[in-house]
Amino acid sequence: MELVEHTISLLHSQLEIPPEYEVYFISSATEAWEIVAQSLVKEKSHHFYNGAFGQKWFEYTKRLKPGATAQNFDKNDSLLTSLGSEGAGAEVLCVTQNETSNGTQVMEAELAVLRQGFDGLLAVDATSSMGGVLLPWLCGDIWFASVQKCFGLPPGMGVLVVSPKAIEVAQKIGERDHYNSLLFIRDNFAKYQTPYTPNILGIYLLNRMLQSTESITSISQSIRTRALDWYTYFENSPWELLIENQEVRSDTVIAIQAERGIIQTIKSKANAEGISLGNGYGEWKPTSLRIANFPAITNEDFQMLRDFLDSVTIA
Ligand SMILES: *Cc1c(COP(=O)(O)O)cnc(C)c1O
Repeated sequence: MELVEHTISLLHSQLEIPPEYEVYFISSATEAWEIVAQSLVKEKSHHFYNGAFGQKWFEYTKRLKPGATAQNFDKNDSLLTSLGSEGAGAEVLCVTQNETSNGTQVMEAELAVLRQGFDGLLAVDATSSMGGVLLPWLCGDIWFASVQKCFGLPPGMGVLVVSPKAIEVAQKIGERDHYNSLLFIRDNFAKYQTPYTPNILGIYLLNRMLQSTESITSISQSIRTRALDWYTYFENSPWELLIENQEVRSDTVIAIQAERGIIQTIKSKANAEGISLGNGYGEWKPTSLRIANFPAITNEDFQMLRDFLDSVTIA
């Protein structure tokens, strides 16, 4: 219990989470998708997506709440361009802040626009950005991530952050049917306990990691700088970036594309040099590569990758 309490307090301070937002540990981001659907939606959530993770969130939700609706937007567009009437009557809007499958991100200003004049909750999947960039917490009611992305830890745990408004809604709905019903999780965490035997090793590692890193403001700045550096590099190389619109390019996932054959060759050459390049994902699997611009990956590692890329010719 002391470890849970201390780790939650470190998350608040290191990630600059507002004090009134509560933090719980769960098992994964996928679990958070279901917690939102079962405990915060009576009939209808509305999903915006431009890639595989956002789409999966929508599909998982539909199985629990068939009233869910979605709008698919182009990976080079702002999600605001897809704002239509389908979302009318939604209790929760669901946004993937950083779409890991294609390397796009949703900016604070877009989240702020979604919030304007909307009475319901905004749920944000920040799985591949939390811990890497400073998130605009007050623009969302439910934020979640799992620890194997920007936190740089072994998989098997998720972090769920909820606003007082989300708790109010959960109380109004009163859903308590599951071991992971939001209200039951909350009852347990009020005592720094967990609804099921906790992932103590995961919590311990998160605790130690948070103690040894800088604050999110400075991490965020270096991640941003490193991302811009990579984008400039690729723009001046024979490589093509998967995302043409600079405004929506992710800070933490950098995706490049090429023909299938080139991707295969580069991957095997990289392997021979001891570098494992991230595959593409979903629709873009065979024709793209993704670079994880995560805090745990050092500048030295990136220099090695840069030297490797400089040494191969793809044109
Ligand atoms: C990785 C990822 C998930 C799934 O995470 P799990 O820990 O496997 O549940 C969900 N959403 C996004 C955006 C992701 O990057």
